[in-house]
Amino acid sequence: MHDVDKVIAEIDRAQDEIVELTRDLVRIPTVNPPGEFYEDCAHLLGDRLAAFGFDVDYIDADGRPEHSAAYPRVNMIGRRRTDAGPVVHLNGHIDVVPAGDGWTVDPFAAVVRDGKIYGRGTCDMKAGIAAAVFAAEAIRRAGIAVPGAIEVSGTVDEESGGFAGVAYLAETGRIARGKTDYVIIPEPLNVDRICVGHRGVYWFELTTRGRIAHGSMPFLGVSAIDAMNEAIAAIRRELEPALAKRVTAMPVVPDGARHATININAIDGGQPIDGIQTPCVADRCRAVFDRRFLIEEGFASAKGEIAAIVRRALASMAGVDHAIRDLMVVEPVMTPNDSPVVAAVDAAIRRVLATDARLVASPGTYDQKHIARIAGIPHCVAYGPGELELAHQPDEYCRIDHLVSATKVMALATLDLLRSARL
Ligand SMILES: [Zn+2]
Repeated sequence: MHDVDKVIAEIDRAQDEIVELTRDLVRIPTVNPPGEFYEDCAHLLGDRLAAFGFDVDYIDADGRPEHSAAYPRVNMIGRRRTDAGPVVHLNGHIDVVPAGDGWTVDPFAAVVRDGKIYGRGTCDMKAGIAAAVFAAEAIRRAGIAVPGAIEVSGTVDEESGGFAGVAYLAETGRIARGKTDYVIIPEPLNVDRICVGHRGVYWFELTTRGRIAHGSMPFLGVSAIDAMNEAIAAIRRELEPALAKRVTAMPVVPDGARHATININAIDGGQPIDGIQTPCVADRCRAVFDRRFLIEEGFASAKGEIAAIVRRALASMAGVDHAIRDLMVVEPVMTPNDSPVVAAVDAAIRRVLATDARLVASPGTYDQKHIARIAGIPHCVAYGPGELELAHQPDEYCRIDHLVSATKVMALATLDLLRSARL
């Protein structure tokens, strides 16, 4: 029997184990915020990997403010080395977003029904983590001697930026160029798609300031809310049509996200709305914006464009001041088209699913940004089971046939990469 067929046979045999590991992971409600039960989840994974021949390390995010006694940020890395050769790292985040309303099943019971596993985090991304574990294990069970090392990590806080998770492992050299060759992140991008990066993110806060006055004589004051209204109107009128015309060459899905976009996250002006009201003209208003910029635009031009539009909009309003403060900047990330990791996953998808893989880019960001920017590793993709549209939704689920297929794809891609040259 050919090695590839042996691995596929082992995964078919392990189907129930893969489903049960996914369910065990989902039953630990690692809800973020605030970041609950990370330690339990890291140990469940670590124990399983140790039983599968991995050396396992637990890494607390010491020094990070969110790593507290109440909510410890515990990451897990398992490593199985057989011989000198490439290092393939499979990384999944163990945190899930809050369940929210609208569920028809218990979000943490991991109910199996009609060939699907239901629960918060089934698709995003505990099925992906189970797939990573069994991709590695199937290679071992098939008795295939391969050079190199397989690493599987479970990391925290992806949903809140990943700073105590993948970023921490990259900053402390656990994941690093020269040490780690290829990274696959099994985020739920659909079983036949390979994700090669994402657009850039610019979060900023715009503050407008006017002058307080009696609310019965508003003409004696300057309303900061009116000023914010002007700024937002200018953004709607001038910026949005321009952004809608800009299309990236990156294959971002869905189609609407191939454009540059802007969203208002929050707005707050005048008196606290639930407090006791007094007649006053609002002298302060703040809003937080989320601008997604294209790799072709670049951060400096996206930032400069907004500053100019707001400045122009408010220039004619006497007595208005404004300030823009950067809250977060994430540069766009794109895996090189000719990366061996893209070729390996592409070939594995064709072998397992008998279909051509589609290259996509994510509408939002994920931990690849830290792999690329901090660890300096360009050869990273997201590939895993689960449908992107179901992430963070009520009644989130992962199809079991997709889980099994993605495990096969990850195993074959890993095998292929372990046999390739070291970078
Ligand atoms: Zn995710």
